[in-house]
Amino acid sequence: MKKIYLMVISFLLVGLVFTGCGDKPTNETKQSAAPVKQEAKQVAKKETKKVVWKLAMTWPSTLTPLASPTHNLAKMVSDMTDGNFKIELHGKEKHKAALGILDFVKNKQYEIGHSGSYYWKGKDINTIWFTTVPFGMTMKEQYSWFYYGDGMKYMNKVYDRFGILNFPGGNTGVQMGGWFKKEIKTADDLKGIKMRIPGLAGEVMAKLGVSVTNIPAGELYTSLDRGTIDALEWVGPGMDIKMGFHKVAPYYYTGWHEPASEMQFMVNKKAFEKLPKAYQNILITAMKASASDMYYENFHASSEAWAKMKTEFPDIKVKSFPQPVMQKMKDATTEVFNKYASENKLFKEIYINQQAYIKKARAWSKMGEYGYIQTTDSLK
Ligand code: CA
Repeated sequence: MKKIYLMVISFLLVGLVFTGCGDKPTNETKQSAAPVKQEAKQVAKKETKKVVWKLAMTWPSTLTPLASPTHNLAKMVSDMTDGNFKIELHGKEKHKAALGILDFVKNKQYEIGHSGSYYWKGKDINTIWFTTVPFGMTMKEQYSWFYYGDGMKYMNKVYDRFGILNFPGGNTGVQMGGWFKKEIKTADDLKGIKMRIPGLAGEVMAKLGVSVTNIPAGELYTSLDRGTIDALEWVGPGMDIKMGFHKVAPYYYTGWHEPASEMQFMVNKKAFEKLPKAYQNILITAMKASASDMYYENFHASSEAWAKMKTEFPDIKVKSFPQPVMQKMKDATTEVFNKYASENKLFKEIYINQQAYIKKARAWSKMGEYGYIQTTDSLK
C-alpha cells in the first residue's frame, strides 16, 4: 500500500516537473496534476471577512518595549489580511484598569489582552510559571520549554478555566537584581532594608528580613532619593535608564529573581473559535513573531543604555550578591516553592517538569553560548 502511495506521489512530482519545464504532458500527468491545481486554487482563495478586535494591555500604550508586541501584532495582522482583520489597541490610559486584563478577556469585553501572567497569582498560583520565577530559566531555555517542551501544554491547562488561550507575548530577558544605596556584603546587610520587589521574589526577600514594599512606578525615584526605600528592582538598563535610579543608588546588582520575564497574549477562546481558520493562523504566527521581537528590542535597548549610563555615571558599581547570600535566597525560594507544591498538585507537577527541563537545557547553555563567551571574551 505504502509502495503504491509513493509511486503516485512520484508520478505527481514528475508530472509537475514536466509541466513546469514546458514539456507536453502525457495523459497520466494531465490527470494526476489536476487535483494539485485545484488544491492550489483553494489555497489562493483569500479570506476577506471583516473582523475588528479590541486589545487591552496592562501598560500605557506608548511604554516600549512592553507595549511593542501589541503594536507589531496589530500591524502584522492587518498587513497579512489586507486590512480585513483589525486590532484596536487600548492602553492603560484608556481602560484605567492595569490589572483588570484577565477579567476583560474572560468576560469578552476585550477579545485579546496583553499583560504578565504572574499578575494573576491571586487567582491561580500556577500562572506564575509562564512569566518567570526566581532561579528559573533564561529566555532561550524558557522559549524552548514553551514551544518544544511542555510549556504550552501547561499554559493551556492553567488558562482553560478562564476560557482563555494563553500565548507568550514578549520577553525582557534577564532582569537586574536592582539598585541599592549600600553594598550588600553579607545576608545581615539585607535585614531591615526597605525594598520594592514584587511577586514571589518579594516573598523570598521577606524571608531574609527585607521589609518589602510596593510603590507605584511614578513614585519610585523620589522614594529612593528621599530614603523612603533603600533599594528597588525594576527591569534592566534599557528601561531603568529612563527612571534615573542610577543617579541616587550606585550599586547595581546582577539578577536572580526574574531571569526571563515573559509577557502574555490572552485570547478569549470563543472569540478565537469564531475567527476564520486563515485569521487564526495569522494571529498565532503574528503573536509568535512579535513576542520574539520584544526580546531583541529590549536586548538592543539595554546594550545601548548601559553604554550610555557607564559613560555618564562612572560611579555605578556593578555587583553580584556574594555566593552565601545567593545560597540563602535560593534556599528561601525552594522553601516557598515547596510550600505551594504541598498545597497544589498541578503546581508540583509543573515545578518538577520545569526543574527537569532546566537541568538538561542548562548543561547546553553552559557548554554552548556561555562557554563561548567565557573562553573568547578576554582574547585580544
Ligand atoms: Ca522587575
